[in-house]
Amino acid sequence: MSLPSINPEYFVDFLVKLLNIASPTGFAGPAIDFVEKELSQFKQLELSRTRKGALVAKWEVNSDLPPIALTAHVDTLGAVVKEIKSNGRLKLSRIGGIQWNTVETEGVWVFASKGEKIRGSVLIDTASGHVHGAAGSETKRNDEHMEVRLDARTTSEKETRALGINIGDCVAFDPRVEVTNGFIRSRFLDDKACMANIVAAVKSMAEAGLSPERSVYFLISNYEEVGHGASTGIPSEVAELVTVDMAVVGAGQESDEFSATLCIKDSGGPYHFGLNNKMRALAEKHNIPYKTDVYPFYGSDGEAFWRAGGDVALALIGPGIDASHNYERAHMDGLVATTNWIMAYLLSD
Ligand SMILES: [Zn+2]
Repeated sequence: MSLPSINPEYFVDFLVKLLNIASPTGFAGPAIDFVEKELSQFKQLELSRTRKGALVAKWEVNSDLPPIALTAHVDTLGAVVKEIKSNGRLKLSRIGGIQWNTVETEGVWVFASKGEKIRGSVLIDTASGHVHGAAGSETKRNDEHMEVRLDARTTSEKETRALGINIGDCVAFDPRVEVTNGFIRSRFLDDKACMANIVAAVKSMAEAGLSPERSVYFLISNYEEVGHGASTGIPSEVAELVTVDMAVVGAGQESDEFSATLCIKDSGGPYHFGLNNKMRALAEKHNIPYKTDVYPFYGSDGEAFWRAGGDVALALIGPGIDASHNYERAHMDGLVATTNWIMAYLLSD
């Protein structure tokens, strides 16, 4: 059986819209809402929310086999306001360990808890070349020295508080999405690219009049970047869980942007041997370009479920993402490969 085709325009349109929705962990509600609205057009799916705020979509079919599940996350790296400085600028507390050098001079939105969202940018506190000269490049990029300059008239803590900004307010870094020549360049392709993979797979199958072979739960997780997203939300009747998350591209890695990858082992140890072999066999049967790889600094939502006591076979697949947790980039070939792999899995028994 051949796989239904994917509409690349739809894929890119959905992904770009999702990338442009700010959704740091803890503030991912708007991205969950957006995915929920998109999935609500498929009447095959029964949608619900966990108390934690994740979205669960169930595609129920008649089958004697136990259900399977797939998960992807829409939360991203980000920050919250840690302190308002006496000069009116903000110190931040990072969410998910974004590296300061990757966001220096980046535009941000500060979502003021008592007011409007306010524009600003991340700077080192020795930013002006004409004031600090060479010393500016020697200042350590750390929590102490990085600050947000607000595009509002404030030079004091009092004036900044008057803007409605409070300690703990969400700060989102600009994604800077660009689509060129089959490449998609943006922050937070991790894991919004894989969210697009799942939505595109559902759409292609639904439009082709196809259903999965077994009932499927899709868990759209909202706390992955802090390590416990999918620790809950997957029913105990589920026998297999495929985590769809980015593959690691860089020196020493097998993964690339033009393939999908099956991760055999990451920081949390090896995945499930039997399910890995099933995923490999499906990729080979459907001529899906894939790699196997080992990720040195990586944990997945599937492992969060395992750690929480989830009793499933577990695998991890995803498209190669260059410069992950930095200024990321993907290619349509890897994204299509991953979407095809998801469909091949859903259509298998
Ligand atoms: Zn991820």
